[in-house]
Amino acid sequence: MSDRFNVIPLTFEDHGLLFIRDLKKMHIVIIGNGISGITCARHIRKRSDHKITIVSAETDHFFSRTALMYIYMGHMKYEHTKPYEDGFWQKNRIELRRAFVEKIDTASKELLLKDGGSIDYDKLVIATGSKSNMFGWPGQDLPGVQGLYSYQDLETMEESTKNCQRAVIVGGGLIGVEMAEMLLTRNIQVTFLVREDHFWANVLPKEEGELVARHLIEHHVDLRLGAELKEIVAGPDGRAAKVITNTGEEIECQFVGLTAGVSPNIRFLEGSEIETQRGVLINEFFETGVPDVYSIGDCAQFHAHPDPERRPIEQVWYTGRMMGETLAKSLTGERSSYDPGVWFNSAKFFDIEYQTYGWVRGELGENEAQFYWEHKDGRMCLKMVWDKDSRKLKGINIFGIRFRHEICSHWFQNGVSVDHALEHFRDANFDPEFFRDHANEIVTQFNKEQGTTIQAAAKRSSAIFDRS
Ligand SMILES: Cc1cc2nc3c(=O)[nH]c(=O)nc-3n(C[C@H](O)[C@H](O)[C@H](O)COP(=O)(O)OP(=O)(O)OC[C@H]3O[C@@H](n4cnc5c(N)ncnc54)[C@H](O)[C@@H]3O)c2cc1C
Repeated sequence: MSDRFNVIPLTFEDHGLLFIRDLKKMHIVIIGNGISGITCARHIRKRSDHKITIVSAETDHFFSRTALMYIYMGHMKYEHTKPYEDGFWQKNRIELRRAFVEKIDTASKELLLKDGGSIDYDKLVIATGSKSNMFGWPGQDLPGVQGLYSYQDLETMEESTKNCQRAVIVGGGLIGVEMAEMLLTRNIQVTFLVREDHFWANVLPKEEGELVARHLIEHHVDLRLGAELKEIVAGPDGRAAKVITNTGEEIECQFVGLTAGVSPNIRFLEGSEIETQRGVLINEFFETGVPDVYSIGDCAQFHAHPDPERRPIEQVWYTGRMMGETLAKSLTGERSSYDPGVWFNSAKFFDIEYQTYGWVRGELGENEAQFYWEHKDGRMCLKMVWDKDSRKLKGINIFGIRFRHEICSHWFQNGVSVDHALEHFRDANFDPEFFRDHANEIVTQFNKEQGTTIQAAAKRSSAIFDRS
């Protein structure tokens, strides 16, 4: 067989026989070496002999963006955040090219690079991630003002906070909390401006937002709810020296962190044939309207998400990985649509772990009911949301207690009732000794409020659970 061809098992069947078809060896080019692009490349390689090139401007190698904070805090070195050894790429014949793509010519199937080079492709995957939101605030481009997304942002932050006593962070979400934690480890006083009346209000209901807010204050964060940035003012050295809020308050500082969310990093596509809105528009197969051009990860926006409950842009690590793996199937002959399963997410707010499964929204939906339990120390809570008619569990938020992912996913995949979930609550807990104390309290409160007679069952061993 010629070098130009490789053998790929295809999923089509004819008269009950699985046929194996030769596919032409292609050059697949991926822009972006984040979790989405890298997962896609790895799975293409597992399944085929196509030529793969990854072009990325940020770093030579893939690293874990979610670990950026630990580098600043001295828990890890950059080297430790790379999931693969540097030799992995050559061994797996994945070519890495450090370059910025300035333009895509879809007619000639060519990428034009900032360094003057160009790359031809047969198939192109756009996996260019996000960038920090900037809302045109006066002073947002001053030295000492920045977001936190890229490795370069981390380097800049390292430099800018060397002689810093006070910082102001604008925008209450996960990255803002991480930034606050980072700064506090350097004894930098943090003022946190959050526009809404409770923390992370576009995601968390009020009770959970209040729990997080209390925890931030416990950690000596000067949290200002309902406060907006109006302007950042430079000092005589031209660096950020104070912020002015919407109420006219002036806060002196040497560093300003802008963490009011992220948006798709797709500016370089302006003027191309590839249709964009907030992100690169795709269907459930990650196909753009242009033949042989696909998009995955943070930068992609579904015309209509395969799960109508979900947002058209998903900016989390595990969905980027799922998209990468699914697209790799399509690119190697097994056209596959995105099937993201149960929505979940997890994070840490200083010492409090947070997990969410299914849908717990800021406001209850029509025909939804909810139960909220909070530990008396105010650092642990549980919320469950269910359908009033069917009693089917719709969502869980847990703070300060760690649940087992496989059990929660099992509950949602199997459409269990809120009563079932509470009865088998101990199965879900990661740390049985710790949790046993709370199961009875939680179930007792639920029974009292709902008029039920549920009893929290003993924890089953995972072997028993797996067979049930
Ligand atoms: C501080 C921080 C903490 C986070 N914590 C969590 C967490 O705990 N859990 C979670 O689920 N998610 C978390 N996230 C979000 C998560 O990291 C992202 O969802 C994920 O990294 C997106 O992956 P991606 O592959 O789509 O894009 P990215 O990781 O952004 O990779 C895209 C790459 O493409 C490059 N690129 C862009 N444009 C071009 C161009 N024109 N030419 C060449 N290269 C280009 C970029 O420089 C970048 O290297 C966090 C994000 C940040 C910033």
